[in-house]
Amino acid sequence: MKIRSILAVLLTLLLLPNMLFSQVKTSAVKQDAFDWIDSRAELLNRTAKSIWEFAEIAYTEYKSAEYLSNILENEGFRVTRNAANIPMAFVAEYGSGSPVIGILGELDALPGLSQQAGIAEKISIDENGNGHGCGHNLLGVGSAGAAMAVKHAIQKYGITGTVKFFGCPAEETGDGKVFMAREGLFDDLDICLDWHPGTINSAILQTTTAVNDFEVIFAGKTAHAAGDPWNGRSSLDAVELMNIGVNFLREHIKPTARIHYVITDAGKAPNVVPDRASVWYFVRDIERRDVEAIYGRVLKIAEGAALMTDTEMQVDFFSGIYNYLNNRIIAEVLHKNLELVGPPQFTESEQEFARVLQRTFGKEEAGMNTEINELKEPGSRSSGGSTDAADVSWIVPTARIRTACWPLHTPGHSWGVVTCTGSDIGFRGMRTASKVLAATALEAMLDTGFIEQARKEFQERTANFVYKSAVPEGQPPRIPVRKK
Ligand SMILES: [Zn+2]
Repeated sequence: MKIRSILAVLLTLLLLPNMLFSQVKTSAVKQDAFDWIDSRAELLNRTAKSIWEFAEIAYTEYKSAEYLSNILENEGFRVTRNAANIPMAFVAEYGSGSPVIGILGELDALPGLSQQAGIAEKISIDENGNGHGCGHNLLGVGSAGAAMAVKHAIQKYGITGTVKFFGCPAEETGDGKVFMAREGLFDDLDICLDWHPGTINSAILQTTTAVNDFEVIFAGKTAHAAGDPWNGRSSLDAVELMNIGVNFLREHIKPTARIHYVITDAGKAPNVVPDRASVWYFVRDIERRDVEAIYGRVLKIAEGAALMTDTEMQVDFFSGIYNYLNNRIIAEVLHKNLELVGPPQFTESEQEFARVLQRTFGKEEAGMNTEINELKEPGSRSSGGSTDAADVSWIVPTARIRTACWPLHTPGHSWGVVTCTGSDIGFRGMRTASKVLAATALEAMLDTGFIEQARKEFQERTANFVYKSAVPEGQPPRIPVRKK
C-alpha cells in the first residue's frame, strides 16, 4: 500500500510540470491568436464590408467566394474551389495531420433588403438590391478570421493538426451544406465549429427544425372560363384543394410541426382556366423522421387534390435538412472560451445608435447586449427556424455560438440588421466570434482529450444512426444561370 502511494505521488510529481506546461502553453497560444485577430481587425472589417457590398443571394456568391478564397490563399491556405461541383463553394485548409478541425462559413445575402450601413433609418442603396439581413458577411469572414488565427498559431508554435474553412453557399435557401455533405466534404473532420451573428452572446444547445422544401405542380387543361369551362380542368383548383387538405391536417400533427406555403403560380387571368399552377411548401418538425411522416401525408393530400380535379401532379423536391445536434462538450468549451474572450464592447455612440434603432422599430431601448448568457438547456422547443449546418452536426461533432452583432429585439432578416452588419457594430461581434472559434479550435489541437470526449458523446447520441442526405443522389442544387 505504502509503496503504491509513494509511486502515485512520484508519478503525479513527474506529470504535473507537463500538465502545467500544457495549460500555460494553451493559454499563451490562445492569447497569441487573439492578438493576431486584433492586429488584423482592419483586414477582417474590410473583407466583411466588401462581402456586405457584394450582397449576393443564395447560389450567386461568385464575387464573395472569390474575394474570400483569394485572401485565404494569400495567407498560405490550400484552396479547393468548385467544391462538391458547386461553383461558389470552396474549402481552404492549412496544416497537416490530425486532428482536423472544420469551421463553417456562409456568404449569402437576402433578396430585396438593400439598405445603407450605419444609419437608423430605412434608406436603400438600390431599390431592387439585396442586403445582408442575416449577417452572413460577418459569419463568413468571422469564421475565416478564426481559421487564419489558427493558421498563425500552427505556424508559430509548430502545432500538429489541420484547420479547414468551408465556404458554404446558399444557407438562406437551405441547402449548400446539404450538397457538400452528400459529397462527403465533412467526413474527415474530428470536430466542426460554427457560429451565427445575432443579438446575444452565447454558446448554443438549442436545436433547429428539420425541414423538407418542395414544390407541387399541377397540370390541368385550359379552356375559356366563360365559353366552355366544362372542357377545362383547373390546376388552380387542385392547388386550393391541396392547401385546404393540408390546413385540415394541422389538427393531427404534433404542435412542434410547422407547415407553410406560398402559391408560386396561380394562373394569369380569371377568364382563362389555368392549365398550370404550383405551390411551394416547407414542412418542419424537430426530427427528420417526423418531417418525413408529415411529408408523406402532404403528398397523399396532393394526390387527392389531383384526383378530385382530374389534373396531374408532380413534386419537385428541392432539399431536406436535419435538425441541429449540438455537441454539449464542444458547446461547453465554446462557452468557456467566450468567457475568456469576453463579450464585444461597444462605444457609447454605438449604444446610442442601437437605442435609436430600437426606438424606430418600437422596441425596448435596451441597446447592444454586452453580457454572456449562461449555457441554456435545450428544452423541448427548437428555435423554429432551420439551418443546413444541422446536416454537418450529424456527420461530425459540431456546436456553435452566437455573438451580438445588432441590437436586441431587432427583427431578423430586416433592414435593421443590414444597417448593422455593414458597420462597426457588426464587425465587433464578428471579431469576438473569430476569437472564440480560434481558441476552441486550438484547444482541440493542443488537448486531444477534448476531441475524444466530444466524439464519445457524438457516438452515444448517434448510435444506430447513419447519415443519409435527404436530397437524392445525383440531384444537383438549383443554381440559377449566371447573369453576366
Ligand atoms: Zn442566417
